[in-house]
Amino acid sequence: MLDMWHTLLESLSGGQLRSDMLSQAQLPGLPPLPDGWTVETLLLAVVGIPAALALLHFLRVIFIMAFGKKYRALRALNKACEFDHLKPRYEYKVSLTSRKQLERYDFDRFFLDEYGRNPKGFGAILDKALNNEKKRRKYTADAERLLGVKPGGAAHVKFFDPLEVKMCKRRLRKPVVSPVFHCTAEYVSPKGQNRSSRDADYNMKQMEAIAKQYQKNKEFQASKAYQRSLMTDSLRYDIMKRDNFRCVLCGRTAKEGVKLHVDHILPVAKGGLTVPDNLRTLCDQCNLGKSDKYDPRGAN
Ligand SMILES: [Zn+2]
Repeated sequence: MLDMWHTLLESLSGGQLRSDMLSQAQLPGLPPLPDGWTVETLLLAVVGIPAALALLHFLRVIFIMAFGKKYRALRALNKACEFDHLKPRYEYKVSLTSRKQLERYDFDRFFLDEYGRNPKGFGAILDKALNNEKKRRKYTADAERLLGVKPGGAAHVKFFDPLEVKMCKRRLRKPVVSPVFHCTAEYVSPKGQNRSSRDADYNMKQMEAIAKQYQKNKEFQASKAYQRSLMTDSLRYDIMKRDNFRCVLCGRTAKEGVKLHVDHILPVAKGGLTVPDNLRTLCDQCNLGKSDKYDPRGAN
């Protein structure tokens, strides 16, 4: 074994380590060794002590893993607590065709559309994150009690093995509770010489607002379809009868060659209802000009 060290030292010192140096227990560039010390003693001190300490540390770690009360309790807690797996970051990329598009790129719109493409997937991510947050609160409280940590304070390591507390802290689970949704919008000029981009990070709160907006839009779409479905032939007839089968704007009748329609005064697209008060008879020309216009202060 020591022969091996000699060979090693010799190769390290470029073969200049001579046997007389060894007997004097002196290495080039180093102060003389204390009396009675040899290179062997020196090596033993330099290599042996750290090795012994490392071994001791290793044995302590093994011992704690096998018998450490806190450590074992934390492992049981970790096993019992199932967090949902989530990525901490979701990346999106959009390629735009002009610099102008990039300048006024609407990230709200992007995430709203993205959400609409996969409402279930997005909803699941948000649910999982909220769920993780709820579970984490309980988990943290349990783990702190277990580790003897005062709420918001440092661990009481007085009565416990600091190494065990350290090992436990390393094992604490850190579930993803607030994933970030990151979108990069990029414009690259046709020849690829110019490249510019803008990006936005959406946090959980912003994403929840997007989800809410999506839901609202969806409900509105549903209500529009419902309002349109309320327009029956019977109701149409009743309204025309009420208006004397005349366009309420120009006064013409079907006899004068116009086609009569029943119009929503406040358009359905703007939240108008299919009720007699919001309905009137218009000829096709007046109706065509009106389309979806509505002036809340003026005549309609
Ligand atoms: Zn008319």
